[in-house]
Amino acid sequence: MQREIVVLRYGHRHVRDYRVTSHCCLVARAFGANRIEVIGEEDREIAKTVQEMNERWGKGAEVEFFDDWKKRLSFYKQKGFAPVHLTMYGLPVQNVEAELAKIDKLLVIIGSQKVEREVYEKADYNVSITLQPHSEIAALAVFLDRLQKGAELGKKFGGAKIEIEPVSKGKKVRPIGQE
Ligand code: SAM
Repeated sequence: MQREIVVLRYGHRHVRDYRVTSHCCLVARAFGANRIEVIGEEDREIAKTVQEMNERWGKGAEVEFFDDWKKRLSFYKQKGFAPVHLTMYGLPVQNVEAELAKIDKLLVIIGSQKVEREVYEKADYNVSITLQPHSEIAALAVFLDRLQKGAELGKKFGGAKIEIEPVSKGKKVRPIGQE
């Protein structure tokens, strides 16, 4: 099954959320999401960071900003996506991952500041990664990994200019196509 995963970051405040939103985007890209949408104040630096990452390290998800989460949610629902909201109050991921793995289009919603009650209601699934409060970055990484059963760890990103040569000590990066 060719799964499509869109990550929707609910809420972004310019400057204040820069670091966390950027990391959500980088995690979404690295862990195989197809697209990232951020609801909130547009931040060109974040879009630029992800774009530069895609140019250097290979083509992955791109990020776009929107101002109305309800419109994006109905847009994706109409396209057949199942909205999955990550929250510590939801059903434990280990209890629902088998069911979620059968769905071919997922809209994964992660919060920032307080998430409106309506998000909990409009989501098809509210899913927790442990029943403890932590972070949207960690929740997203663990969720994407559980959903894809680790398959994303070996994902190849097409069109990369450089790649890492894994070594047990030190750092090795080489231009693509050279030994
Ligand atoms: N009280 C919030 C909640 O509902 O999870 C915690 C806010 S936390 C700073 C920001 C986001 O991190 C949340 O909106 C949620 O998407 C994610 N998050 C935090 N802890 C989580 C958990 N245990 N399971 C799933 N998502 C979590």
